[in-house]
Amino acid sequence: MSEIIETYARLTPRSAAAQTAAEKYIPGGNSRQAGHWLPHPLTISWAKGAHIYDLDGRPYIDLTNNFTSLVHGHCYEPIVEAATKGVASGSAWSANNESQLELAEAIVERVPGMDQIRFTNSGTEAANLALLIARIVTGRYKVLMARYGYHGSLLEFEVGAFDLEGPMTLKATYNDAASFISVLEEHGSEIAAVFLEPVMGAGGVISAEPEFLREVKTAANKAGALFVLDEVIALRLAYGGCQSLMDVTPDLTMMGKLIGGGFPVGAVGGKKEHFSIFDPKDLKAWHSGTFNANPITMRAGAIAVEHLTQERIDHMARLAEKLEQGLLLAARKAGLPCSINRNGSLLNLFFMDQAPEATLIREDQELISKFHIAAMNHRVFLAARGMMALATIYNDALIDEVIERLSLAMSDVAKDCF
Ligand code: PLP
Repeated sequence: MSEIIETYARLTPRSAAAQTAAEKYIPGGNSRQAGHWLPHPLTISWAKGAHIYDLDGRPYIDLTNNFTSLVHGHCYEPIVEAATKGVASGSAWSANNESQLELAEAIVERVPGMDQIRFTNSGTEAANLALLIARIVTGRYKVLMARYGYHGSLLEFEVGAFDLEGPMTLKATYNDAASFISVLEEHGSEIAAVFLEPVMGAGGVISAEPEFLREVKTAANKAGALFVLDEVIALRLAYGGCQSLMDVTPDLTMMGKLIGGGFPVGAVGGKKEHFSIFDPKDLKAWHSGTFNANPITMRAGAIAVEHLTQERIDHMARLAEKLEQGLLLAARKAGLPCSINRNGSLLNLFFMDQAPEATLIREDQELISKFHIAAMNHRVFLAARGMMALATIYNDALIDEVIERLSLAMSDVAKDCF
């Protein structure tokens, strides 16, 4: 057996037992595919700042920040204070709350492509809402998306994410405008919307060419379809979201993750003309949800957004660049091939000389899986696919520590695999 796996099993017996117990009642022991890995995932009991702590009491530097959603790290004091006060004042009621306006204003005033916004409980629900708007506005049903793009767990989008076949989904190649234009020319009259991430998150932190986004938007609109930019992850990359960086104005913007301040959230923003379908005086679309815009999420989200200043965004990007350089050097010293895709505070590491195009097949699967486990042995937690998302509370000393620990993990991988 691999020494890396043996060490992991020895260090995390309580997580192993928790996984076995959970599998009796929950298939795979979880409700979230991305949280599963072999030989068993960690069960975390608490978190604070840059660290998570497992059932065996081991601390890990958390480089995932719940897949980008905790942009200020765990238990960010202003959010803890507001959420605690919020819970004590009632967690939800079936009427309006003022925090909803606070978060709506904070987002709409900084992201250029929207006049109005509506909230949901997840990015998946935001995709559902964007699709609903596009279907009602255009009277069409199909979606066009990038092959291996990720927009959540709705069937229409899973078909594209995993390159399956489905009656409502058309696929084209990311960063290849001609491939989108050709599908729009052939099937345009059936397509309600084109969905694209400005930076493919699950696909491997692959950044769009701004010109690609602009060309696809023009072609989508020419075909009478809406252009939806999925900023669920990418909003953290600039004060005005990635659309301000890449100078593209979508018809609809999907958001989630960071705008909930650590609580479940999603949202769609856009032009007033597309949102008038929800006007109760002339209702054309029904959109509701028991926990939509609940006061706890809205207040926490407003703080998270307001505290994400351009200065802090730049701070995270600088640290991410330092991490990128440190890891490339460590891999070279360990004799491992390595490349890193990075955009601002988001990184994805590959044990290949050149990062691949978006694909489901990882040629470096054995190396990245072992590195993921070896990193945990050295008390660093990153996504199983090598993705990392920094937080505003990180500092140089923490990044130095991460580089040191991940260098040891890389040496273990080199010993185990070669
Ligand atoms: N869109 C993108 C770009 C995402 O990365 C995700 C989740 O990772 C989603 C949508 C779905 O969001 P959620 O997991 O909140 O449903």
